[in-house]
Amino acid sequence: MQQKFEFVRLVGNERRAGSKLADVSRHWQGNKERHLMISPHDDDAVLGAGLLIQLARREKVPVHILIVTDGSMGYCSLDEKDSIAEIRRKESFECYQNLGVPKKNIIWLGFPDCQLSNHRGRYPAADNDQVAISGYSGLQNAFTYHLRKIKPTQCFLPTWNDLHPDHRIIYDEFLISMFHSAGNIWPELGEPLEKVPYVNTYAVYCDFAEPPTLRMRTPISYLENKLKAISAFRSQKQISSLIDNVRHCGSEEYIRAIDFKLYHPSNYRNQFEEKEMFRMGR
Ligand SMILES: [Zn+2]
Repeated sequence: MQQKFEFVRLVGNERRAGSKLADVSRHWQGNKERHLMISPHDDDAVLGAGLLIQLARREKVPVHILIVTDGSMGYCSLDEKDSIAEIRRKESFECYQNLGVPKKNIIWLGFPDCQLSNHRGRYPAADNDQVAISGYSGLQNAFTYHLRKIKPTQCFLPTWNDLHPDHRIIYDEFLISMFHSAGNIWPELGEPLEKVPYVNTYAVYCDFAEPPTLRMRTPISYLENKLKAISAFRSQKQISSLIDNVRHCGSEEYIRAIDFKLYHPSNYRNQFEEKEMFRMGR
């Protein structure tokens, strides 16, 4: 049975192993390190990264959770149809507090479940807009505001290739918001970040699109605590099958670091140069 902490990161052909996240992480910033977990639905971050959240807390890294949707379409009984969003909000606080995240670091954005395609981008808020910040609305408005407020060094969100459309939309909107947050636009949303945070993906329902870069293994007590945290979502009738599945997967999780490849013409220049061997044939 797994009783040790073990982190293995693959960098090209190199395998780096250690007993702490700090030992194997790129660009670790010591006591400035601060993690932001994006959870499209309330349970995504605990399902895909419930061990990682505890592991960050073990190394005294502040962890913030941003829950994007209100769960209003997740009712399993008709009597909960109107109250389900409030029930799930309470369950979310219980879940992430069980993982060691203080209540003040758990942010419930409240975007309407299954309607995210109507909330892409940023636009002036209507009078009755429930998710408005500084007179504007939309996912990019909310993400930019919270990124500037929290100032994370690393962000974690579900893979872009997940089947759930909400996960795909949030992936697109969040990644561009990271660049907005470090730029000078939209000054009413706060001071720009000094630099764009590093970003990683975790898997919830579908495999990674490309292989992950970090494996984390923990003592079994961390898995037990993750299962206890998931069980807070008692309004979700399918939760017991999810718990069985997570238990079966064991006390390990994987993440993939995302590298942005920004366009630079010099990356392509050599491919267009006359090659020595061709010249010799003339
Ligand atoms: Zn989800």
